[in-house]
Amino acid sequence: MPGHISRVATCNFALLVFLALRNTPLAPLSGRSYEQLRPLHKTAGYTCIVTSTVHAIVYCKAWSNKLHEMLITANVAGIVGGLAMLVLGLSTISRFVRKSYEVFYAIHIVLFLLITVMVGMHRPVLAKKALIIVIWTGGIWFLDRLLRLSKFFRYFLGNYATITALPEDAIRVTLKAGVSSTPGSHAFLWVPSVRLMETHPFTFVRTDPAEFLIRVHDGFTRDLYLAAQKEPGRMIKCSVDGGYGQIPNFNRFDTIVLIAGGSGASFTFPIALGVIQAAAVAHTAKTIDFIWAKELDQLRENPRVNVYIYVTRDSGPSTLVEKSPAVYPSSDPSNTGSDLEKASSINSAPQPLTTTPVVRNERPDIARHLADRIALCASEQQVGVGVCGPSSMVSQTRESLSQGNGGTYGPSITLHTEEFEW
Ligand SMILES: Cc1cc2nc3c(=O)[nH]c(=O)nc-3n(C[C@H](O)[C@H](O)[C@H](O)COP(=O)(O)OP(=O)(O)OC[C@H]3O[C@@H](n4cnc5c(N)ncnc54)[C@H](O)[C@@H]3O)c2cc1C
Repeated sequence: MPGHISRVATCNFALLVFLALRNTPLAPLSGRSYEQLRPLHKTAGYTCIVTSTVHAIVYCKAWSNKLHEMLITANVAGIVGGLAMLVLGLSTISRFVRKSYEVFYAIHIVLFLLITVMVGMHRPVLAKKALIIVIWTGGIWFLDRLLRLSKFFRYFLGNYATITALPEDAIRVTLKAGVSSTPGSHAFLWVPSVRLMETHPFTFVRTDPAEFLIRVHDGFTRDLYLAAQKEPGRMIKCSVDGGYGQIPNFNRFDTIVLIAGGSGASFTFPIALGVIQAAAVAHTAKTIDFIWAKELDQLRENPRVNVYIYVTRDSGPSTLVEKSPAVYPSSDPSNTGSDLEKASSINSAPQPLTTTPVVRNERPDIARHLADRIALCASEQQVGVGVCGPSSMVSQTRESLSQGNGGTYGPSITLHTEEFEW
């Protein structure tokens, strides 16, 4: 019995590493990239911790009259590995991960390496197979790291980032080099002069040259912002590891609804632009609803500030959408909520082909918008919905579609969700 449990634990150890590989062979096979496989990685991880704990308890009970055997090297290694697993499990508490991501990440890597060595020492006989599984696990992990490193090296040579501080705690980072990737995918940005030991994931707004729009938090992004403020337009050495992400091909949909909250627009913008370009080349008609909800509290609260939103075009004059928050139109006159949010929509539902962007001083009613838009689609049409923003927005979209899509007839709907946190 303890032997069986330890085998389950060892196999789960190999599985959890396989599911965490950034360059996973499962991406092209399953259409899921590494970050979408994270829930499975976590499940395999927790299963591994539980089974190893049960394995330890069963052995302790069975060996209660010869506990001194626990002191032989192989068993001490097992105990150390088991304890490391428990600490690693505790470090995944989401409050801790959110607060101290870098510490969590360092714990993850150091303890993973320790556990690998300890499990190898716990079952050091090659003929007993456990060691083969451990060597295989360490091997695929090392190979993945090597691939990541080679990408960093490839995009490091001759590459520079121009960092520009934008209003409202945002930064634009434009790289000299392009990255071969699809709209909506992301890469890990490394700026050694800002933080040598850290890389952070950001979604490409453009890929050639690569460009990111970044919302400033308190760590790496804050330091990047300060660097940009100190020397505006400064060019600094950088590199990226990417692109990652399996985004559905939005070109195949007749109607596309893209919903973004705040910096989530860096995910929906390139998708919208990609669809527009492809539709122009193929001369196909598409309807795109582009909804962007953004907080402008800081600006609205300042009496000196008038908010201007321009929808700019490559040719022709810019369109002034709204001049001042005081005159924002709202469909609900009683709406005096503290969040000033804009729902900007190209071809806003329910009108099929409106070209005037709409700016509203209210939270977007995602459920109503989706219901109105879907009601306009014929049953043979394909609708693609992409959402990127806070988890409340993502779940609201998911629920709206699952509740409103109970009927037998209606268009086929594909939902793709993206969140800027693990
Ligand atoms: C796939 C993906 C794509 C993203 N794309 C964008 C984008 O286009 N624009 C944008 O503004 N933001 C994006 N983010 C979020 C961005 O990565 C984090 O905001 C950034 O790493 C925070 O760095 P910080 O050190 O300043 O954060 P901190 O102030 O230290 O922490 C702020 C938050 O960011 C999280 N965080 C910190 N470091 C990381 C990390 N290395 N990886 C993941 N989360 C981290 C923390 O858990 C915390 O919740 C994306 C995140 C993911 C997972």
